[in-house]
Amino acid sequence: MSIPDPKTALQPLGMLPEEWQEQLEAMGQPAFRGRQIVEWVFAKRVTSLEQMSSLPKSLKEVLAPRLQLRTMQLAQATGSRDETRKLLFRLQDGRFVECVLIPASPDLYGQRADRLTLCVSSQVGCAMDCRFCASGLAGFTRNLNAAEIVEQVVQAELVAGERIDNLVFMGMGEPLANLTALIKALRILNAPWGMGIGARHMTVSTSGMVPQIRQLAQAPVPVRLAISLHGASDEVRTTIMPINRKYPLKALLEALEDWHRLRSQRITLEYILIDQINDGLDQARLLVPLARRLDARVNLIPYNLVEGLPWKRPSETRQRTFAKVLEDGGVRVTLRREKGHDIAAACGQLRLKQETAEGIVDGPAVAARRMAAAAASSGHVGAEGD
Ligand code: SF4
Repeated sequence: MSIPDPKTALQPLGMLPEEWQEQLEAMGQPAFRGRQIVEWVFAKRVTSLEQMSSLPKSLKEVLAPRLQLRTMQLAQATGSRDETRKLLFRLQDGRFVECVLIPASPDLYGQRADRLTLCVSSQVGCAMDCRFCASGLAGFTRNLNAAEIVEQVVQAELVAGERIDNLVFMGMGEPLANLTALIKALRILNAPWGMGIGARHMTVSTSGMVPQIRQLAQAPVPVRLAISLHGASDEVRTTIMPINRKYPLKALLEALEDWHRLRSQRITLEYILIDQINDGLDQARLLVPLARRLDARVNLIPYNLVEGLPWKRPSETRQRTFAKVLEDGGVRVTLRREKGHDIAAACGQLRLKQETAEGIVDGPAVAARRMAAAAASSGHVGAEGD
């Protein structure tokens, strides 16, 4: 099957009803055809134009060369039904994205245990260069468009054989660096005519892009916010997250306070515990007032090893000691123990492996990033611990 010209292609999974109206008007078609198409696409999930039996032949002929109902293919799925499963999708341009299906998970992002969560990617690769992360290792390739973001959910539901009712944008990429497509995708994911995912069941996780946090706060999309914090002082955070140089903690906290005020909504602070890097009691003690100031809950995530990176997971004793300081300080804290839930650090490994095997990653760039991580780990800030 030939691929439509990207300049004129219509990708219904990424289209709003008003866009259909505009398109159909230009084709001399009545507006109600747009509602029919939207229903075929989302409610009935058809995968071919032929299945849209209520559309006239003349309209199908006009749409046929431009319509793209699906743009990605499942390349790999790991795990079984009851486990956390990684899904690898091949995009039309031959690149890969990963997403993660997380079954019933007590208290994950404050949701009930009967939810099926999908961790979604927003970009191919990532430019943020967090030193511990597999997604950033091969650098940034491109943004996903709204259709590609929504399609991950559609395709993952097929693999899961059931409805996904909770989304976390914690997969590959920095979602706020792709804000326009993200906001459009969130509208489609939430809309009753679209994917119908509840307003309180979509969480966007950012490394801390301050201006975009402020923009998202103003956008009329229902979404929760999680921050990949991973350090409670500028010194430690900058060691592992270069974005902290541009938006240090003071600026980040002010933006988060404004979000909290504007949205009256609790923020989640994600904190990947990395051995001897950010898991010292000094960091735990600094995290207490910071979380309390924001009325935030803290998710502690023991680091998941990434091939070729020097970081390690702390001992369980160190993890528990860190969590206890937060608890004693009156902070709502969750320490993840379940294998597979430590998504953020590990996400991207499958894709990196696949793209390396196919020779489409820049080997020297990956090597340079690994060296930067090694340098950061050897010059780490001393951590007081168990
Ligand atoms: S942790 Fe997130 S923001 Fe940082 S490099 Fe990885 S994907 Fe990008």
